[in-house]
Amino acid sequence: MAAHDGGCLCGAIRYRVSGEPIASVACYCRDCQHAAGAGPNNMLLLKKDQLEILRGRPRAYWNFAESGHRVGRHYCETCGAPLFQETAAHRDMAMVKVGSLDDPSAFPPQTNVWTASAQPWMHVDASLPTFAQEPGSDAPREPQSSGG
Ligand SMILES: [Zn+2]
Ligand SMILES: [Zn+2]
Repeated sequence: MAAHDGGCLCGAIRYRVSGEPIASVACYCRDCQHAAGAGPNNMLLLKKDQLEILRGRPRAYWNFAESGHRVGRHYCETCGAPLFQETAAHRDMAMVKVGSLDDPSAFPPQTNVWTASAQPWMHVDASLPTFAQEPGSDAPREPQSSGG
């Protein structure tokens, strides 16, 4: 089974993702803009039991997201690097920050979410399924063909 390792910037925290993630998502919400430096926040969606902490202990910050759900953001308290996310709405699921993987190149985004909150100067890849808010709250726009 494939495994994808990653960790924080200073190396205090190391983790392993077993198997393939369910999806690779780019989130443009305001909270993720704070967490990601602007955005988008690229994350892998997976089952919590696919994620194993090999070393260290992340800290978590919880708040209410635009979705109305509580969201926990897990980060290294030494270097501040964002690592994981979870939502109280889906307790068996976890999100892993793509940038924290040893090889982020393998996981381009497949879906854009919360683009209604994107800054006007952010580039949103219109060739991907795109949700103005969270998936399920509206229909995805059809991917646009180039030149259309
Ligand atoms: Zn660190
Ligand atoms: Zn977000």
